[in-house]
Amino acid sequence: MERFLVTGGAGFIGSNFVRLALEEPQRRVLVLDKLTYAGRPENLESVQDDERFAFEQADIADREAVTRLLKGFRPTAVINFAAESHVDRSIDDPSDFIRTNVVGAFELLEASRRVIGDWSDADRKAFRFLHVSTDEVYGSLGEEGLFTEETSYAPNSPYAASKAGADHLVRAYFKTFGLPALVTNCSNNYGPHQFPEKLIPLMILNALEGRDLPIYGDGSNVRDWIYVEDHCEGILAALANGRPGEKYNFGGAAERSNLEVVDSLCAALEKEVPAAKNEALKVDSYGDLKRFVTDRPGHDWRYAIDDSKARRELDWAPKHSFEQGLAATVNWYLENRDWCTAVQQANYDRDRLGLAGVAQG
Ligand code: NAD
Repeated sequence: MERFLVTGGAGFIGSNFVRLALEEPQRRVLVLDKLTYAGRPENLESVQDDERFAFEQADIADREAVTRLLKGFRPTAVINFAAESHVDRSIDDPSDFIRTNVVGAFELLEASRRVIGDWSDADRKAFRFLHVSTDEVYGSLGEEGLFTEETSYAPNSPYAASKAGADHLVRAYFKTFGLPALVTNCSNNYGPHQFPEKLIPLMILNALEGRDLPIYGDGSNVRDWIYVEDHCEGILAALANGRPGEKYNFGGAAERSNLEVVDSLCAALEKEVPAAKNEALKVDSYGDLKRFVTDRPGHDWRYAIDDSKARRELDWAPKHSFEQGLAATVNWYLENRDWCTAVQQANYDRDRLGLAGVAQG
């Protein structure tokens, strides 16, 4: 039986991963999560009565707690989603990003190495440490080119730098200590349960309330968008077929500028809940709410992914087109307004974040 220790499993991607992983009857999952503002027990509601599922509130940087859980649960794999994940917050204050994304990843690696050191050769070899990372570690592209697994690291935000630091530690733990570890670098995710500070849910909720749709700079920045389920399937494929010591890129084959994303969202919303039919919004269409605002400091211009290695070696490919994924996402947010209210209560009002760098000149 596979036994997954999933850190950060109460967050957006982690909770989607847990649901997918438990579709396989021969799997147990233990979620270790600190429950920061982004970690929500509600995200795991649908699995909480499953006897193959367990939850522990803990910090990945707490080596004692992590060691106790590793010894007690004896996972076949650790999948590290735990992180501070919002670039804008890393501009306002990078401290938690260093603490969790770098020091936390280090403590998790070190605890894993020590605990599996007492296991049999066969159990040690079968173990996997999968670190979930981002394409942002590669920096920014111009009009041309794609990030491959060989692209040099050139992180530009404190978030990206902290993720890059952890990726390097994972590599070092494989090279130096033989920890069977892999890194996956994925493009921008979207889908159900994403905290409303991120572009797509922020725009959906603002539009539904008739609030401005703030577009950074001129809206030309390009990201490659992947539906969260496709990313989670990639992680399962990397656990099954990936080689320790390797990196794998995942992308959604859906490069879009931020402006295109917002226009597509407005169109998807018009289909479901036409703006003109809601007098409270005071606009004829959601597009009327678009506003260009001060750009993000150090805003990377374009990310684009070459995921041919993952397609070739892991037998994986994204299944959702951007249009399908976006329609599913819009419907999920329309049907889960209570979740939206609950996760924002007391700690988030959708005001602008990440201008600290600008204010300091
Ligand atoms: P998220 O912010 O929604 O969730 C992060 C989770 O980690 C939360 O449940 C939080 O409580 C938990 N956490 C934070 N600090 C912790 C700590 N010290 N100890 C234990 N738990 C802690 O993030 P997400 O969007 O789901 O991203 C998950 C992972 O995937 C992150 O590592 C992120 O860097 C990576 N990633 C995200 C994207 C994306 O587009 N969202 C793309 C590529 C990679």
